[in-house]
Amino acid sequence: MSKPEVDGGGPDRSGLNRWSNWSGNVSFRPAQISSPRSVEELVELVRSAPGRVRPVGSGHSFTALAATEGTLVSLHEIEGDILSIDSNASRARLNAGASLHQLSMALEHHGLGFKNLGDIDVQSLAGATATATHGTGMGFPCLSAEIEEATLVTASGELLSIGPGANSELLHAVQVSLGALGIVVDATVSVRPAYKLHRTTAVRPLSDTLVDAMDLWEAHRNYEFFTLPFCDYAFNVTHDETTEADRRVGKGDDEASLRDLRRLRTLLSWSSPLRRLILNQVAKRTATEDVVGTSWRLLANERNTIFNEMEYHIPVDQGLDALAEVVHAIDSLRDVYFPVECRRTAADESWLSPFHGGERISIAVHAGRGDDVRWLFDTIEPIMRRRGGRPHWGKLHSLSAPDLRDLYPEFDRFSRVRRELDPHGVFLNPHTATLWGEALDA
Ligand SMILES: Cc1cc2nc3c(=O)[nH]c(=O)nc-3n(C[C@H](O)[C@H](O)[C@H](O)COP(=O)(O)OP(=O)(O)OC[C@H]3O[C@@H](n4cnc5c(N)ncnc54)[C@H](O)[C@@H]3O)c2cc1C
Repeated sequence: MSKPEVDGGGPDRSGLNRWSNWSGNVSFRPAQISSPRSVEELVELVRSAPGRVRPVGSGHSFTALAATEGTLVSLHEIEGDILSIDSNASRARLNAGASLHQLSMALEHHGLGFKNLGDIDVQSLAGATATATHGTGMGFPCLSAEIEEATLVTASGELLSIGPGANSELLHAVQVSLGALGIVVDATVSVRPAYKLHRTTAVRPLSDTLVDAMDLWEAHRNYEFFTLPFCDYAFNVTHDETTEADRRVGKGDDEASLRDLRRLRTLLSWSSPLRRLILNQVAKRTATEDVVGTSWRLLANERNTIFNEMEYHIPVDQGLDALAEVVHAIDSLRDVYFPVECRRTAADESWLSPFHGGERISIAVHAGRGDDVRWLFDTIEPIMRRRGGRPHWGKLHSLSAPDLRDLYPEFDRFSRVRRELDPHGVFLNPHTATLWGEALDA
């Protein structure tokens, strides 16, 4: 039994073999934490595990997806990043336990790159795709949709290949599967030649941003914006492909900005008008950036300030109205200081992708570590649900099987496949049992 050295989640400091996720809001004590060094060892582990088994990636989910009192399995000790590249270099078979950072570096070494990335790149490939991790951009689906083939270790300890040549009907099930169908050991992902991006940031009035956002998504490869609580300005970020030489003009400091926002919250929560007045002045003076560099280095950020998060994916025609409602609701929540992030993601066909059946606008709402998160459930989630939102699987939400069945046309199809592949619930835990509407027998 070895301890995972996952970036983010990992054994907590209690010394009691407890495991905590990145934000520390999920903590549990597995009977054993295992890190097999090869697929053969993993197969043996699943076959011989005395109880239930849960795979874990980098522990960056805010929901109790990985929690188990049985065996927690991390693939981080299985060596390798790129397992093979096809002859025209448009697909690469990747170690699913490797981090997106490690894989981006390895792909760059071969002149290749992921087509898009989210805010960070420390997640494992399997963990990120299991919850439909996404970035922003009208032309880009979530990372899961780029999976063309996958190999998993099923509950019976068999290796199952899924792709055009075998079990093709399961591809759209495995792409977003929350670790419910088996442990994914490799995935063949659609990639592209390495590329550079040009980033610009701009602080603009929130009212103008809401009017222009749809055009900006059309105009830029990647566009997103952040609204600031108690502020009339929004922070806009664009990325466009370029062949220009690397440069960096201006440097934003997200961590310092968050510290300032928290300080202002603490000092001025007694007067929202004064807080707004000061924040508006500060926002207008925020340093902007003009940067050219390697795609993955610009798309992904380091996030050192710990937070908890709820994100819902809203049908495009409702997205900006939902955001306006969220901003308005936050005006009466004086403790809130984290920016709200707004992105757009293309449709895909994975059965459990929140983007199944149509592109969506994603609204991510954060709370500082240690802050009460009840407002997310009491105030924010009802807005998202009224607007037809689907929750990010890895972020805070309160939905269970009946709600999810209404939101996902292929929900029952996925449940059937899950039961066929895992009839004894080896990969179930309390959280996923609630999602699938299953009783969790001892
Ligand atoms: C700071 C921060 C920034 C984030 N930014 C974004 C963002 O920009 N966009 C976005 O969409 N999300 C974002 N997220 C959410 C994050 O991408 C997801 O929660 C993702 O699932 C985390 O990946 P992980 O490797 O940490 O997986 P974990 O959280 O460890 O696990 C996630 C799921 O994957 C399963 N799993 C792990 N390994 C395997 C395997 N080998 N086989 C099968 N199943 C497996 C687990 O059982 C679990 O169900 C962010 C989270 C944080 C903390």
